[in-house]
Amino acid sequence: MSAEIAPPPAAALPLIEHWIDGRTVASSARAPVFNPALGRQIRAVAMGGHAEIALAASAAERAQPAWAALSPQRRARHLFELKQLLLEERAALARAISEEHGKTIQDAVGEVTRGIEVVEYACAAPQLLTGAYSHNVGGNADTFSVRVPLGIVAGITPFNFPAMVPLWMFPLALACGNAFILKPSERDPSAALLLARLAQRAGVPDGVLNVVHGDRGAVAAVLEEPRIAAVSFIGSTPVARHVQLEAIRHGKRVQALGGAKNHLLVMPDADLDVTVEAIVGAAYGSAGERCMAASIVLAVGDELAERLIAHLARRLAGLRVGAPDAPDTEMGPLVTQAHRERVREYIDAGVREGAALVVDGRDLSGAALHGGFFLGPSLFDRVRPHMRIYREEIFGPVLGIVRVADLASAVRLINAHELANGAVIFTASGAAARRFAAEVETGMVGVNVAIPVPVAHHSFGGWRSSMYGDHHVYGEEGVRFYTRLKCVTQRWLAPPQGGSRLTMPAGDETL
Ligand code: NAD
Repeated sequence: MSAEIAPPPAAALPLIEHWIDGRTVASSARAPVFNPALGRQIRAVAMGGHAEIALAASAAERAQPAWAALSPQRRARHLFELKQLLLEERAALARAISEEHGKTIQDAVGEVTRGIEVVEYACAAPQLLTGAYSHNVGGNADTFSVRVPLGIVAGITPFNFPAMVPLWMFPLALACGNAFILKPSERDPSAALLLARLAQRAGVPDGVLNVVHGDRGAVAAVLEEPRIAAVSFIGSTPVARHVQLEAIRHGKRVQALGGAKNHLLVMPDADLDVTVEAIVGAAYGSAGERCMAASIVLAVGDELAERLIAHLARRLAGLRVGAPDAPDTEMGPLVTQAHRERVREYIDAGVREGAALVVDGRDLSGAALHGGFFLGPSLFDRVRPHMRIYREEIFGPVLGIVRVADLASAVRLINAHELANGAVIFTASGAAARRFAAEVETGMVGVNVAIPVPVAHHSFGGWRSSMYGDHHVYGEEGVRFYTRLKCVTQRWLAPPQGGSRLTMPAGDETL
């Protein structure tokens, strides 16, 4: 968290507290929460640690057995109710997100909507938890498998989707019969508290969903708390790696999703107008602070690259940067001043390393932008794989063009990158699209879809250093992550058939 602007007296500002056992809990430690469009502190957030995580784990421990004992259908009824409340409160949630994150209101509404889709999926709990049954596996025996909850699970989430990413996790974890402890980003903590309050209104028993705010101290407490059985993490790659290793060291199941460098390949036969609009949305929406943001465009051939750059430059000249709550704003500020400086340094580094800066967003003027953490859109041409702006995640409104000879060389580049969240192709050729989808080695692939975030009944996750752990989030993979398998083999014999036998029982004894 950047502390570059001296906060006003903390007592004068609203405090975002923890949510433990169905009520708010304060801590003495606090951190400032900024409105990035204004560039000043608007709230404070309580910063928890071991004591608050232990309190939350105790509440979860008390509440979870009765929650797990409910039938899946009864748990789902609370999720149906939660979905309804989320729809009713979507505008209020979007305002809170936009105010602390800086994304436009419309974008924040979209974020909540994508989160609600996962709640809808979790409402299918009775079906999702249907086990498998094999009748007569041999000798009057039957076998059935059931998925049972893990107990208490935790989620650690990033700043860039303060509602959607928690909604990727806790509704499904709850549907499976677990209690949940959420450690949201300390930069935009209000949405998490609103979600917890809505869950209570939806009838989720106190203690089943808890929120503990904080930074790395709270994360350490989550990882060390022995009553937490599993951790879902989403954030940057170095922290994802750390969380994975520490979770394993403490004997926990873990899924840790990290950063990204998403490539978007444009073939010469792509419709350029459609493609440019899609690229602009994917690269500059949410000021590039999306893990599925397009950050590299691979243009096949110089002729296409020139046309693409001319189109993009024209469009970016008119891109409306400004207050996130103004109806015509397309792009708001970056989340903190420190992050804006970091992105600006990447642009400086790109220039130093020899990339051609076609659109320079570093100096943005305008009365409405005064004080906010704004940057304009930037576009680089002639980016090369050895450059930092190619290798590292920038997480800002900066797009780089790499000129490639053909599809094969594009795929080679994508597959050699350490980060492998998503990859996209824009083309009119089914054969090219099919080959791309088959050969590219990333967790998610788009064909004429610039942001291929899977719908709720599929699952989200990257490959290589974009994700550590075995299960992707939400969808079927989410159900697997939040449950473990129990397999029961039973035989009921009529009394005369009973009796002891000391040889190994075989399924089919005629083999
Ligand atoms: P971050 O890694 O800084 O923080 C994520 C979480 O970890 C936060 O809750 C934070 O409090 C905590 N944290 C931060 N530093 C820590 C440390 N040293 N030790 C322990 N915990 C720590 O990420 P961010 O800046 O909030 O979010 C942006 C990053 O998240 C980007 O890299 C983006 O690509 C990634 N992201 C990935 C996905 C995905 O699905 N793969 C989705 C959204 C965001």
